[in-house]
Amino acid sequence: MRDYHNFVNGRFTGSQSKDRITVVNPSDGQAICSVPDSTAGDVEDALAAAAAAQPDWAKRPAIQRAHALRAIAARIREQVEPLARVITEEQGKILDLARVEVAFTADYFDYMAEWARRIEGEILESDRPGETIFLFRQPIGVIAGILPWNFPFFLIARKAAPALVTGNTIVIKPSEETPHNAVKFCELMAQTDLPPGVINIVHGRGAGAGKALASSRRVGMISFTGSVETGSAIMSAAAANITKVNLELGGKAPAIVMGDADLELAVRAIKASRVINSGQVCNCAERVYVQAAVADRFVAELAKAMKATKVGNPLVDSAAEYGPLINEAGYRKVDGLVRGAVAAGATAVTGGKRAPAEGGYYYEPTVLAGCTQDMEIVRREIFGPVIPVIRFDDLDEAIAFANDSDFGLTSSIYTRDLNVALRACREIRFGETYINRENFEAMQGFHAGWRKSGIGGADGKHGLYEFMQTHVVYMQGNG
Ligand code: NAD
Repeated sequence: MRDYHNFVNGRFTGSQSKDRITVVNPSDGQAICSVPDSTAGDVEDALAAAAAAQPDWAKRPAIQRAHALRAIAARIREQVEPLARVITEEQGKILDLARVEVAFTADYFDYMAEWARRIEGEILESDRPGETIFLFRQPIGVIAGILPWNFPFFLIARKAAPALVTGNTIVIKPSEETPHNAVKFCELMAQTDLPPGVINIVHGRGAGAGKALASSRRVGMISFTGSVETGSAIMSAAAANITKVNLELGGKAPAIVMGDADLELAVRAIKASRVINSGQVCNCAERVYVQAAVADRFVAELAKAMKATKVGNPLVDSAAEYGPLINEAGYRKVDGLVRGAVAAGATAVTGGKRAPAEGGYYYEPTVLAGCTQDMEIVRREIFGPVIPVIRFDDLDEAIAFANDSDFGLTSSIYTRDLNVALRACREIRFGETYINRENFEAMQGFHAGWRKSGIGGADGKHGLYEFMQTHVVYMQGNG
């Protein structure tokens, strides 16, 4: 088993901590490697390196910074297969999805590099004669990126690429569940001529390294992806220094299936959206509302499709459509919510228990009929391959059910009626709505949760500008 290190100031460095975190393959429970459980002192060292590197990095023309992003993308593309295996081994997603994650990550670096020549300021009309007002967009300084485990490799890019192209430097803390892919990322980065200190990776748990990052005065913005509870703790830590926060938190995406929908399409898309990464995706369809007239048919078809879904160890079984849940805590949460729903009157049409695969925490593809809006499974994020289904009578009721949630990340509607789709888009209070398709965002969009699903957002032009601050200059001339 390899013991890995942090990556600070352009090289792998030891930690002040003797404690180490063992990384486990969720598919079979075997240990893979270890990383340091870094101290607050390690985090400060990394932040100091990032702060020292930032002024020179920001002075470079943006197009030179973009070249560095493209070099990272090129290195990633040379290693798609080994990187995908590392992701699958520590996170449990199937290899095809891990390959998509690696390719998407490389594309994301290239996409953000394209912004180098497109970052714009403004020139404003003044009230005073002879004066010109300029609005510059400038980097914030040092960014802290704190990552979850579900798309661990891609999230490095989602934080680092916009941070770097806009002239910031960054310290990233990967999830303690999935640090191995970040080590591999550092090995690739070390092969490029990225200046030392521009990207630093510090491993550790949330309560130690994570908290130290969120509490440091050196950090200009914390870009966090993870749970609502941690987002709230990070906001509290950031409050002491009035540090800007950018939060991408949990979801509870409603999918509305109207009576006129193409049911075959709805079943296919909702199933895909629910089994991808074992249902552990923030934008997955987490609750389905189906119009009463087609409810029985829809539930029967969905149950058939879910039942036919193959679950298995993704490194062993190439036919598996999804693998294990990330860990025992994840399994207990999913199983507890399912049991609670059944006790409260729901029916498990298919699934409802642990899948009979060896070693890891696998869960059967599950459809729960007869759910009601007040059930915990309809209100809390499940993060597993489980679909609770609720009936509704008309669009008003469906929209009211969908909006009745603390979360506001993504949503979807299936209908052939353009007017119904348009009305739903106007009235559904979520950051994203998918019409007649599965939930999966584009890098040129803007992934931003409403309510407890987050503050600010990621991707596209609007996500890029989150990493900049404005500087207004008033230039008084005498002409
Ligand atoms: P988590 O909140 O448990 O952990 C995320 C990260 O925060 C980890 O690196 C952890 O070490 C760190 N952390 C924990 N406590 C901390 C603290 N007090 N201070 C600073 N850092 C701390 O989340 P998770 O279980 O890794 O990820 C799953 C969650 O992420 C789900 O809720 C999912 O919906 C959400 N998510 C959201 C998006 C999005 O784009 N909105 C994307 C992916 C995942």
